[in-house]
Amino acid sequence: MVDLRPAAEAEAFRAQVRTFLVEHLPAVWPGIGALPAADAAEFVAGWRRRLYEHGLLGLAWPTEYGGGGLTKLEQVVLVEECARAMVPLGPASDTVTVKMVGNTLLKWGTEEQKRQFLPPILSGEDTWCQGFSEPNAGSDLASLSTRATLEDDEWVIEGQKIWTSFATQANWIFVLARTDPTVPKHRGISFLLCPMDTPGVEVRPIRMLTGGSEFNEVFFDGARVPQGNVVGLVHGGWAVAMSLLGHERGEEAALNPIMFRHEYDRLVALAREYGRIDDPLIRARLAWCYERVEIMRLLGLRILTQYLRDGDLGPAASISKLYWSEYHQVAANLAMEIMGAAGLVPEGHVPPRAYRTDDPGAPNSTASWEHVWMLNAASGTVYAGTSQVQRNILGESILGLPKEPANR
Ligand SMILES: Cc1cc2nc3c(=O)[nH]c(=O)nc-3n(C[C@H](O)[C@H](O)[C@H](O)COP(=O)(O)OP(=O)(O)OC[C@H]3O[C@@H](n4cnc5c(N)ncnc54)[C@H](O)[C@@H]3O)c2cc1C
Repeated sequence: MVDLRPAAEAEAFRAQVRTFLVEHLPAVWPGIGALPAADAAEFVAGWRRRLYEHGLLGLAWPTEYGGGGLTKLEQVVLVEECARAMVPLGPASDTVTVKMVGNTLLKWGTEEQKRQFLPPILSGEDTWCQGFSEPNAGSDLASLSTRATLEDDEWVIEGQKIWTSFATQANWIFVLARTDPTVPKHRGISFLLCPMDTPGVEVRPIRMLTGGSEFNEVFFDGARVPQGNVVGLVHGGWAVAMSLLGHERGEEAALNPIMFRHEYDRLVALAREYGRIDDPLIRARLAWCYERVEIMRLLGLRILTQYLRDGDLGPAASISKLYWSEYHQVAANLAMEIMGAAGLVPEGHVPPRAYRTDDPGAPNSTASWEHVWMLNAASGTVYAGTSQVQRNILGESILGLPKEPANR
């Protein structure tokens, strides 16, 4: 059942967040997307610092690790209100740093690891990247071949990772490595923490079509990390890795419908700008997009209800991932068709990252939509589990279809 009633404690906290936003955002605030790229990056860095200083980062983490000691519900309210106010909680790398590894350490880390790693994650001192994918291990991640062997109380890592977002900014990487090659593939993997400045770690940026290089290859050539830098059990890293991707999907369920609604409003404005708003075919497709964004909102409420009740999303996370990522490709295609030939000449504002929507408040530039169409929407059905993989999960876990035969 979906619980549509606003919880009293959430509404009290919502009022506090709104007051905070009014006090701390500029009086006339057009949204983060309206700022020129360099100003936006500087603003986000300063805004993150401000949230941290006011105890608003890691809101649901225990206070002993620098968190706010509040509930997941209050965390969701904060995310919603910031999204509505068109300001992010932090830079895109926080998805990996705070949401992924931060929450994973909170769940699986030893007391010592939590005390060492969580405070610098919140303060912004540490930035992390994710060393999972390899040239021959993406969807079939458990086939990874990066190895770590124990020598003189240290793990020695050998191998290669690829598509590592933020690797040039990060000072830490979490790495899935094979630590026991003699057992079935899921059972011999460990989750290791490695400083990026460790001798033997080399980052090679991958140049994208846009000229940017958000992704990287990361090579490990005898990189040594202390034996204690394992999260969870030695050889038990698969369970840690699987729980990592599920973290904060509840938060995303609240965030996505708001971000896609901002984007939908830009799409309607684009149709007006290009004189296509009275075209019945365009109107029908805009109506289709509107319906999908509304369904996303209702789906989000259902997921949130489950997340707040059970703290776990299960297969609902796959429904949400599949829904928004496939919707986004249709919406981005529509934008390109509205712009017609003009869309082939990218000009003006460029989105600051290769994920999801452009920032709320961004001008309807051709470069914005082309980037969203070619990169952000196109890659949405690949990262964090491809559409085919999500359908396999749903087929097996919700529809009860037979398990896919293992091919290795
Ligand atoms: C924007 C972006 C950011 C990323 N950031 C990171 C990062 O920071 N760190 C990191 O480790 N990785 C990252 N990745 C990598 C990402 O996790 C992988 O691309 C993803 O897991 C898919 O793996 P692959 O690219 O090797 O494709 P493959 O697994 O080779 O898949 C190729 C095709 O085969 C299909 N397929 C595969 N297996 C099956 C199956 N069993 N049934 C049906 N179809 C199947 C897939 O759906 C896909 O269409 C990123 C990727 C993108 C696009």
